[in-house]
Amino acid sequence: MAKNNWEIALKAIEMHENIFIFHHIRPDGDCLGSQFGLRELIRTNYPEKNVFVLGDAVGNFPFFTWDFDTFEKIDKKYFKNSLGVVVDANSSNRIQFAKYITDKNFTHMLRIDHHPVDPDINYDYTWEDANYAAAGEQIAYIAMKAKWKVTTKAAKYVYLAINTDSGRFQFEYVQKRTFEVMAYLHKDNDFKVWDVNFPLSIREPKKVKFNAYVLLNYKEDNKVIYFHVTKKLQKKFKLSTNESSDVGILANIGNCKIWVMFIDQPDGSIRARVRSNGIWINHICEKYKPGGGHEVASGATCYNKNDMKNLLQDLKNEILKHEKS
Ligand code: AMP
Repeated sequence: MAKNNWEIALKAIEMHENIFIFHHIRPDGDCLGSQFGLRELIRTNYPEKNVFVLGDAVGNFPFFTWDFDTFEKIDKKYFKNSLGVVVDANSSNRIQFAKYITDKNFTHMLRIDHHPVDPDINYDYTWEDANYAAAGEQIAYIAMKAKWKVTTKAAKYVYLAINTDSGRFQFEYVQKRTFEVMAYLHKDNDFKVWDVNFPLSIREPKKVKFNAYVLLNYKEDNKVIYFHVTKKLQKKFKLSTNESSDVGILANIGNCKIWVMFIDQPDGSIRARVRSNGIWINHICEKYKPGGGHEVASGATCYNKNDMKNLLQDLKNEILKHEKS
């Protein structure tokens, strides 16, 4: 069930002079595109406001400019009448630089998110709606409803968000509204999806080889497909943890219901990226803390082979439960 609507987000933005926008840890196209897209939209439509972006793109989407602000260099005068905005995220353990929020630097906090989560941060304003394909779709929706001017630059950021989180418009929540906001992103500017689609589509040879390896070596167990990206494999293919984590490689093979990519992390933990083509898996991921996410796209944390085995077993049991009902 949605919590509030776009109007509360607009009201919060309009009421504050200084705006600080945050993204989630392990940043993806949605949180980064939403963050920078919102910055551009506010700068264009409310030139009197000061907007800051905090975080780190960790090398993702290098064909975009990610000119973050440095919190320590921001004059304290901007904390007056300020609004902290969290896009595409919720709880403090999921937000990059959450400390700046939990230290209570900002007058008020706003969350614009499409995850169905009750966060540990006490937001003054929340627009949560899991029926949106991307947080970027929420940002574009605010722009459309508020009749904001959209520059080419803003459109590119917001489109990156929508494209990546909707799996190029193929996932379940993509709907008429998604295409309406896409049309709005093209209004009175030079934006063309190709300008983002082309750089997004370029594939690095080492990643292509890795994808081929995964496809030849994945395991299947009772409609659950999985693959473990060990440190050894990351070294063999010269890929970072981030570069070797594409769970989409395993999507929808044969009659599988759920697919999981386990990725060894530098700190010794194992990140599990879990996807499903219908059965809800977020409540299962929540058991493997920290874990959770969307109904059919979630993450979990394992610490050893036993955790991995248990998570796979829980997922298999969930499939059995659904097949019986
Ligand atoms: P990912 O596999 O990292 O793309 O995550 C899929 C979805 O699950 C995203 O919406 C994340 O925000 C969410 N998610 C991933 N890992 C976690 C976690 N450890 N705790 C809570 N939510 C997560």
